[in-house]
Amino acid sequence: MLNDTIINAERELYLTLLELAQQQPIAYEWLKQLPTWLNAIKDKANYAHAPAYQASVARLPTLTVNNVDLNSDTLTIDASLNESERKQAMALLKQLMPWRKGPFQIGGQIGSQIGNDESFIKIDTEWHSDWKWQRVAPHLGELKGRRVLDVGGGSGYHGWRMAGAGADTVIIIDPSCLFYHQFMAIRHFVGNADNYRTHYIPVPLEALPAHSQLFDTVFSMGVLYHRQSPFEHLQQLRGQLVKGGELVLETLVIEGDANTVLVPHDRYAQMNNVYFLPSVAALIGWLEKAGFSDVRCVDVAVTSTEEQRKTEWMTYHSLADFLDPNDSTKTMEGYPAPMRATLIAKR
Ligand code: SAH
Repeated sequence: MLNDTIINAERELYLTLLELAQQQPIAYEWLKQLPTWLNAIKDKANYAHAPAYQASVARLPTLTVNNVDLNSDTLTIDASLNESERKQAMALLKQLMPWRKGPFQIGGQIGSQIGNDESFIKIDTEWHSDWKWQRVAPHLGELKGRRVLDVGGGSGYHGWRMAGAGADTVIIIDPSCLFYHQFMAIRHFVGNADNYRTHYIPVPLEALPAHSQLFDTVFSMGVLYHRQSPFEHLQQLRGQLVKGGELVLETLVIEGDANTVLVPHDRYAQMNNVYFLPSVAALIGWLEKAGFSDVRCVDVAVTSTEEQRKTEWMTYHSLADFLDPNDSTKTMEGYPAPMRATLIAKR
């Protein structure tokens, strides 16, 4: 099914990289691989659900958008939608469940949830991703005019906020087919309100040309503990940064000294793909060993069952089900409950 939203987004991505290549020839290496990357995500041999997701995005109603504020915590697309548009959009967006990272609102006014329930759609996601952004944003160097990479950017919620904070170009990468299409669903409603400063390439970090050195700020949030080789991940992040550029690393940590690291034997909080959970002190050491300087920890927060929970848009088990029912300081496997740190470092 022809899909204008995705075609336009792809075109803008090509143009952005082409323009970038005029000053930074390494961007040609990205351009060479872009057709492969963008075709792979549409290939149902790789992703059985891809055609269905694409069709859902293609059938979203075209609304008259009054305003988009990429700075609002509930990322709100202020548009008027009538009852049939609301029903149609709601059903299609629900076909893209589970929605884990957000929240988003389509219709209604920015920052206001007055009006009747019928006049807007609120995508109440599993995660309050806005809370993470509130913990991270005050500590960031200037994003205005910067080129930014968000590694493992999920549905793109934080990527939109980076554009909202003034970044010149944001490239989100993530290998998830569902997250890619959730981004495109939001892109459908945002239209060109961000002047196409926000882009998404559906690839893992290790697929990018190493040593691109294209970005002033690189984010990796919620990814490191999923990597079997954390040092490779840190080096790959470093390779995407310009000299003097800023890394923002957010990951699960545990209490302990510079030599404390937990490697869960089996699952951790029911996730079967968790590898290294260092202490903050150990993580600082890792970043220094990987060649970063000026490493500092700017935030540590225990994840609450208000921040990560089951909703109408994510009906599977969530954090409350993954903790020990008799002791919420422990996961059901007996490990320390999820605690996350944000570190900032310079290349
Ligand atoms: N950054 C968001 C989402 C974190 S979820 C946040 O902090 O809320 C972790 C994401 O990392 C998933 O969407 C997963 O698809 C992605 N991911 C896993 N391995 C990756 C890799 N090698 N490169 C890039 N992204 C990866």
